[in-house]
Amino acid sequence: DGTPKAAYEIAVVRGDGIGPEVCEAGLQALAAALPDPAKLSLKEYPAGAGCYQETGVAFPETTFEACRDADAIFHGAAGIPGVTYRDGTEAGLDFGLQLRFRLDLYANIRPIKLHPGIVSALRHFEPGSIDYVILRENTEGFYAARGGGNVVRGEIASDTSIITRAGTERIVRQAFELARTRNGAPRDGKKRVTVCDKANVLRSYAFFRKVATEVAENYPDVELDFALVDAMTVHLVKRPDFYDVIVTENMFGDIISDLGAATVGGMGMSPTAEIGAQNGFFQAAHGSAPDIAGQGIANPLGTILAGAMMLEWLGKRHRDNVLMDAAARIDRAVGKVIEDPAMLPGDLGGRATSAAITEAVCRECRQPA
Ligand code: ATP
Ligand code: MG
Repeated sequence: DGTPKAAYEIAVVRGDGIGPEVCEAGLQALAAALPDPAKLSLKEYPAGAGCYQETGVAFPETTFEACRDADAIFHGAAGIPGVTYRDGTEAGLDFGLQLRFRLDLYANIRPIKLHPGIVSALRHFEPGSIDYVILRENTEGFYAARGGGNVVRGEIASDTSIITRAGTERIVRQAFELARTRNGAPRDGKKRVTVCDKANVLRSYAFFRKVATEVAENYPDVELDFALVDAMTVHLVKRPDFYDVIVTENMFGDIISDLGAATVGGMGMSPTAEIGAQNGFFQAAHGSAPDIAGQGIANPLGTILAGAMMLEWLGKRHRDNVLMDAAARIDRAVGKVIEDPAMLPGDLGGRATSAAITEAVCRECRQPA
């Protein structure tokens, strides 16, 4: 940490459905954006629903160890409908869930950025005006042990949401660190962390807000802001250009990050990162989209942007400007390419193939800055 490496080891898992297609697109963009593609040493490992069908194991231990020990993990998407364990749970989901809990990937980072060429569902917002990040706590709330859900005599159901001081402190600290270092800024130019909760109704969320307020005292240079989650859904539609970093508990993060994605072109445009103290796991926010798999029409940009996030995370971590530059290059290239209506993918109302879009992004990445 803290010093650049000659080469970074990337564990690549292509996965199921459109996973292998979009993963390939992401890898091509990474190679095109770096002055020397050998800066990334790519190693492929099996996991997912297809792997389960072939071998009886969805997430081989050798794949887990490789992911744990790599500098970063890059993923397509996982899941085939109907390929389930005996208890009915989806085999493809195991990869992401096990990585999250075994590597303690507590921060789910969802950038919400309106690129040029994308007509936002909010039509009056210009490209660049929506540029914020949702930081979702990834290990607690109702999703910790799946809430330990219980149904009594077919009459009463309950789930428990757990929020801890340690879990809240670390995610809120991440939010403030991110606000300090990120480039995107709200329209008034301030650095701002918005804590999103339901503190007026539920104890656990009041506690989340209290701990967040305590953490904020260490960051007087960043504005602290609060929003109740119901009001947040309105704000993200009416004034998304106000936001910089939003930090929230697991379930609310799940919900508002899909809302945010819808305002900037949908899941096909949305990358996501899951970060722990030691590991980073990068993929598009969408699933394996089995309905369009193998047709060459999937939007590859979410995964391509996930590649940029990976470079940025590695670049910050190792103080490696070569990676930071390449990340910015991919981000610019995506904006440039999608500005051309002929390059719009199917999910954005266009007809461009994955291959055509990926090729255009790679060409743009190779242009001198
Ligand atoms: P998961 O269960 O993994 O969260 P999901 O079942 O909710 O995933 P997705 O697999 O993300 O949903 O896809 C839902 C639909 O959205 C797909 O069937 C597909 O039509 C569309 N879609 C998703 N990702 C893309 C993409 N990259 N390009 C084009 N269409 C997409
Ligand atoms: Mg699905």
